[in-house]
Amino acid sequence: MITRSEVERIGLHAAFWAATLVRDLRGLAAPARLDRQPLTDVNFEPTNLCNANCVFCGYQFQERSHAPIPVELGREIIAAAKRAGVTRLGLTPMVGEPLVHRRLEELVREAVAPPQPLQVGLTTNGILLDPARYRSLVDAGVTSFTVSMTYPDADEYLRIYRSKKLKQLVANLEGILDVYEPGVTFSLGIRTPRRDWEKHPLFRRARARGWEVVRNRLYDDWSGRTGAVMEAEGLPTRPNRPKRLPCLMTIAGPHFLSDGRATACGCRDLDGKSDLALAPAELLDDMLAVYATGAVDRLRERFRAGDAPEICQSCRHYNPTFVGEPLGLRAQQLAADVRAAVTDLATTLVAAGRGPREVATGSET
Ligand code: SF4
Ligand code: SF4
Repeated sequence: MITRSEVERIGLHAAFWAATLVRDLRGLAAPARLDRQPLTDVNFEPTNLCNANCVFCGYQFQERSHAPIPVELGREIIAAAKRAGVTRLGLTPMVGEPLVHRRLEELVREAVAPPQPLQVGLTTNGILLDPARYRSLVDAGVTSFTVSMTYPDADEYLRIYRSKKLKQLVANLEGILDVYEPGVTFSLGIRTPRRDWEKHPLFRRARARGWEVVRNRLYDDWSGRTGAVMEAEGLPTRPNRPKRLPCLMTIAGPHFLSDGRATACGCRDLDGKSDLALAPAELLDDMLAVYATGAVDRLRERFRAGDAPEICQSCRHYNPTFVGEPLGLRAQQLAADVRAAVTDLATTLVAAGRGPREVATGSET
């Protein structure tokens, strides 16, 4: 008999592919030309040190030594981004907790200063985001926060974030809710296997104050490295899509690691050593050229030629870009996704028919 969790898994995969195919179909009608430069964002990693160690994160596999980004390098990146006409600065690390950087506010102030002020946002686990630090970052110029967390249950937090600091995190969020004023975007990204997670009073209060509260349903597995431990915690792996069109990451902008290395992808290139690695000096010299006609343009060509970098082949974060791409290639992406959907749903159904997996299925409490 198929268990409730298997039915949910099939439903999740079906919903994933339905949304994917709808986006592919809409992509067929996307504009034939990109009406802006292929570079809107720059990101740097304030530090690659974290005060948690989540089961779904590549942090546990990182090979780099821990270090904050030098303030002078942060300033150079911001200046290069402004010269390139970038509009947003992301302070979400590849891995690491941005608030560990003690001089983060200095860099934020530099980014929002004229000329060409940048919008600044970050993702944090919130353990260090007490109301005073929140106020300090807002005063410096951060306008968008995303806090990543589990359901507020100490045992669940300990298992999934492998941290004992849930009480501190919840106190921080309650304190920020007390002083929160509209004008700053605040989101909670919930990683939980629970079905009735939305009923928690903290989430209800957050929504009532205008915060976005969203649960992650499917997860990347860092090329297979986190899949088993995530599944054991009831966090399901996202299907892997075929890659025909260039990934959106090759349009958005570069990601500088805290040791100064750079990469086209802030999602997966954990140590900046894959084919997505970029030359930092070239980016600091002329970021737009690297994206418009240089190394990142060549990466986009590799996708189009069916030779996406190896790290991308196994990536479950892939999000294709349609605008400006040849219509035939968009149709190929749609056809490849249809075939992948049929195969994946058949495989998921067969696996469900074989009986329950040895994984946690999520609490009903
Ligand atoms: S808090 Fe963020 S950076 Fe740290 S281990 Fe978790 S997901 Fe990774
Ligand atoms: S496919 Fe994955 S690894 Fe490749 S650029 Fe996109 S998000 Fe990054």
